[in-house]
Amino acid sequence: MTVHLTTPVSELWKVGKVTAERLKNLGIETVLDLLLYYPFRYDDFSQTVAIKDLRPDMAVTVKGEITHIANKKSPRKRTSITEATVQDDIGDTISCVWFNQPYLTQNIPPGTQIALSGTPEFGYHNTLQFTSPQYEKIFSQKSIHTGRLVPIYGSTSNLTQKQIRFLIQTAMEAVSEITEWIPEKTRKDFKLIGRQEALKEIHFPTDTPSLQQAEQRLKFEELFLLQLRSQHIRNQSQKRAAKKILFHEKEIKKFVTSLPFELTQDQRKSSWTIIQDCEKETPMNRLLEGDVGSGKTVVAALAMLNCALNNAQAVLMAPTEIVARQHFQSFKELLSNKKSSSVPIALLTRSEHRLSHKNKTFTKQEVIDTIADGTAKIIIGTHALIQDSVSFSDIRLTIIDEQHRFGVDQRKTLKSKADEMPPHFLSMTATPIPRSLALTVYGDLDISVIKEMPKDRKPVITSVVHPGNRNTTYEFIRANTKNGKQTFVICPLIEESDTLGVTSATQEYEKLSKEIFPEYTVGLLHGKLKPIDKQKIQEKFASGVIDILVATSVVEVGVNVPNATIMMIEGSERFGLSQLHQFRGRVGRGKDQSHCFLLTESYSPETKNRLQALVQTHNGFELSQIDLEQRGPGDLYGNRQSGLPTLRIASLTDTHLIEQTQKAAQQLFKQDPTLKQFKELKNLLEEFEKKVHLE
Ligand code: ADP
Ligand code: MG
Repeated sequence: MTVHLTTPVSELWKVGKVTAERLKNLGIETVLDLLLYYPFRYDDFSQTVAIKDLRPDMAVTVKGEITHIANKKSPRKRTSITEATVQDDIGDTISCVWFNQPYLTQNIPPGTQIALSGTPEFGYHNTLQFTSPQYEKIFSQKSIHTGRLVPIYGSTSNLTQKQIRFLIQTAMEAVSEITEWIPEKTRKDFKLIGRQEALKEIHFPTDTPSLQQAEQRLKFEELFLLQLRSQHIRNQSQKRAAKKILFHEKEIKKFVTSLPFELTQDQRKSSWTIIQDCEKETPMNRLLEGDVGSGKTVVAALAMLNCALNNAQAVLMAPTEIVARQHFQSFKELLSNKKSSSVPIALLTRSEHRLSHKNKTFTKQEVIDTIADGTAKIIIGTHALIQDSVSFSDIRLTIIDEQHRFGVDQRKTLKSKADEMPPHFLSMTATPIPRSLALTVYGDLDISVIKEMPKDRKPVITSVVHPGNRNTTYEFIRANTKNGKQTFVICPLIEESDTLGVTSATQEYEKLSKEIFPEYTVGLLHGKLKPIDKQKIQEKFASGVIDILVATSVVEVGVNVPNATIMMIEGSERFGLSQLHQFRGRVGRGKDQSHCFLLTESYSPETKNRLQALVQTHNGFELSQIDLEQRGPGDLYGNRQSGLPTLRIASLTDTHLIEQTQKAAQQLFKQDPTLKQFKELKNLLEEFEKKVHLE
């Protein structure tokens, strides 16, 4: 039978129902899938030695003839033991044992020429022996299990390494059908070997340098495809025209001087870049990245004000009602300092609707009408904004706060609310992510970063608290509360079923309000509360009625209460560093010294190191780099939107290669914007874009 790339594995020799099912669990259904199932490491048995030269603890291969082989039962008769003696050309012998493979006596009877790979150790009588070595009959054909760099596959779903290797060897028969899709020039510029060769070498490497070349090539192609997609999306969006937003310099300068604080350098720089982007006739597509509390809101306010001064609408969508309302409040304050005008601001969430410019209440319909007829210039809200009943008159700028909390479709819908022309678009995120990840995930966006924190911020003093010190922490909170300061207590999800963490938060609330702090007002905030109740609790906390707020981890990012100076996090080892850093960012917003207590019952060194990183660094980028290395991109880059394909071989921490592939993708599009010379690549890209749908 001839093996083709499209041949189902179930038609391969020796693949029955069970094996096919197991392969399917690994995502392998065709011969091509097999070839693309890369090893996750290699055992180096490339060194073949004479038996007399064997040393303990040295991974090697020996070759010889089986002179004796027999089964015996173990003392407890549970396991069967196969003992064999192998003699090499020189006449030296070594003994081997295998467990629970009684068929070996049939398989490799005396007289078999055999290669053994493994690490010999001292057995009985202080002689060297092999325990469960890899073995392979010596034919003229190239070996795949011994005497070489032997591939080891990650998950095997109950298949043996030998079975997988054997199947991949069979699949190799079709490797000549593999087509090259990286253009020759790119391959030359970046010194990449061909695809067929790379696939051969990745499974059965000739030697270490060849293996490295194969890895390089396959990592490159994986990241290259991601970058091609980003560039493609970027090119598409650049083709469309947008309506300019002119810079109203005088008014904006007035706004800046009216602020109760001085903008940081980074805030100025990002604002300026955004203003320039918006003056163009191609739509802005920018990400504003800055730690919690770095002051992104005012940058958004400035851009939106500038848009409103053009007599056009600007929309800001926030992830929760609380955040939306807070933005509404701070926009009102920020913009009211500017004496010259009163820009009409609208707030629209599921349970709330308000207008800033008149001191009376409006019905929801009235607010919606004001948005539709263009009276409201700055519109702030939640998902409620993307409902069918809401339409706009002239959106030129859309901003999404905490962009990772929205799905791709939601972002698209918001953009599509602008009628004919795409609006300028700004995403904001308080999850600083490492540059390598940003280049991949946001390859199609321009990025502005706010690194510098506002001047008068004191870093939050962070400490890890074990159960023995819990009471000391409570006393600290008591003293703090006595001084009129407020505290957050964050509870993790304990049980899987309790997806909102309501149980643990409720229990904590009961304990704190009844036993620990009966003299103070304790509040409870979780996702199952009605929006109106959430709002009430939030208001009470913001106004200082509630001293201690117990909240679940799933609700409400971005809450701004400067009087809160303590953040206590239960079960802190359950969170990613970036997430802990986000929680911590909710305190330390005022002038007073703030504290963050990381409670944990775990004493594992791993937990210790992770939490210690948080004690020592206040830089969100550094913490996210650690998260990326230790926990992968999922944590940093929520499941919902991730859209990132699982990488087979490349790593998202490899900044250098990511930069190279980005360069390669840019070059290629420059050379041939429609990719008409590169049919193979174009098809691949189209298929890929269908499969992975990211913005
Ligand atoms: P985030 O980037 O997390 O959205 P915010 O925009 O909510 O941060 O800002 C946090 C707090 O810092 C707000 O109270 C805001 O008024 C204040 N702030 C912003 N910029 C500055 C600055 N340059 N100097 C002092 N305080 C500032
Ligand atoms: Mg914010």
